[in-house]
Amino acid sequence: MFDDPDKKLWLERCAERGFTAPSWPREYGGGGLSPAEGKVLGQELGRLRMPPPLIGFGLTMIGPTLLQYGSEAQKREHLPKICRGEIRWCQGYSEPGAGSDLAALQTRALRDGDDFIINGHKVWTSYADQCDWIFALVRTDPEAKKQEGITFLLIDMETPGVTVRPIKLISGSSPFCETLFEDVRVPVSNVISEINGGWTVAKALLGHERSMIADAFGGGAGGSARKHQGLAELARAYVGGHGELADPLLRDEIARMEMDTRAFLLTLQRTRDAARAGHQPGAETSLFKVHGTELNMRRNELMVRVAGPQALGWEGEGFEEDELARTRDWLRSRGNSIEGGTSEIQLNIIAKRVLGLPD
Ligand SMILES: Cc1cc2nc3c(=O)[nH]c(=O)nc-3n(C[C@H](O)[C@H](O)[C@H](O)COP(=O)(O)OP(=O)(O)OC[C@H]3O[C@@H](n4cnc5c(N)ncnc54)[C@H](O)[C@@H]3O)c2cc1C
Repeated sequence: MFDDPDKKLWLERCAERGFTAPSWPREYGGGGLSPAEGKVLGQELGRLRMPPPLIGFGLTMIGPTLLQYGSEAQKREHLPKICRGEIRWCQGYSEPGAGSDLAALQTRALRDGDDFIINGHKVWTSYADQCDWIFALVRTDPEAKKQEGITFLLIDMETPGVTVRPIKLISGSSPFCETLFEDVRVPVSNVISEINGGWTVAKALLGHERSMIADAFGGGAGGSARKHQGLAELARAYVGGHGELADPLLRDEIARMEMDTRAFLLTLQRTRDAARAGHQPGAETSLFKVHGTELNMRRNELMVRVAGPQALGWEGEGFEEDELARTRDWLRSRGNSIEGGTSEIQLNIIAKRVLGLPD
């Protein structure tokens, strides 16, 4: 998985102790820690400036969903490989005609004995060109009400008939792809939960996805080290000032940004504590997604403004590697209000299901 031997060793050592998924049960490769202990572990690693040993959709999306909905055989097959970082996962939800209206998806799965035969077209599949497996939503009953004819299926990307085509983004990289399925044969045993019962599983996974996005945007475990570099530190380097920043307006803005981030992280923490006490978060995850998105976009814009002309580089000797990366991070952050469900859709969910407003 890693080219860098140090990162590989770090992953192996952490995986041996169950530290890649500290609060998952030990029998599936996790650390068996309580959520509170897992949080302390994360904080200590952060304090030591150690990167998270493992990131990815396996750990943050399909893993928690399998723990909730997978059969014992599915958990035993997939979870230990996720914990050891052996298998990478991508998400096959969106289609050219089904994004915000996800239940309109058309990828067909026709039953043939113990297999399904899959035909269809997924799009915006992040990291599909690097992943080993995809968790996908497929239509198994075209006659049923649209949410009721969907099945949640695990598909090995090596299966004949799966084709991946990378799509280039504004940031210059190609983190996502089109994924095409042509007569792809998948065992029925790869269904999570029940045939035609995939919508419930899909929504649970979206809840995990939104929490993960909010966490990463708020500067949680998935956030990049670059973003953790204090804004004040960055401003001192570019704008000048010893101790107190020379520019009072910028000082104000940075202070507000840091306070808002702190308040957001504390609110996330409160929700996790409530979840531990038995309150399963529902539509509130949309609040976190919207606010996390706004915070991340604001932070990226502020970083670019602070760096001034040095934030305008694309390539070349006049720029440090970190500066070029910051520009690309800023461009990448434009997609935050779309991925994992657009901000408009989250606001609709909040209006209807949190505030109880009429349609
Ligand atoms: C960086 C990135 C990574 C992604 N990774 C993945 C991935 O790995 N796997 C995957 O399956 N998908 C992925 N997506 C796709 C993402 O989930 C969809 O782009 C998103 O759900 C929106 O769907 P759409 O692009 O079809 O836009 P549309 O649904 O066509 O929406 C277009 C516009 O109309 C607005 N709109 C639509 N319906 C309403 C409504 N009812 N009320 C108000 N406004 C509305 C939307 O907010 C949006 O502004 C990714 C997207 C991005 C940007």
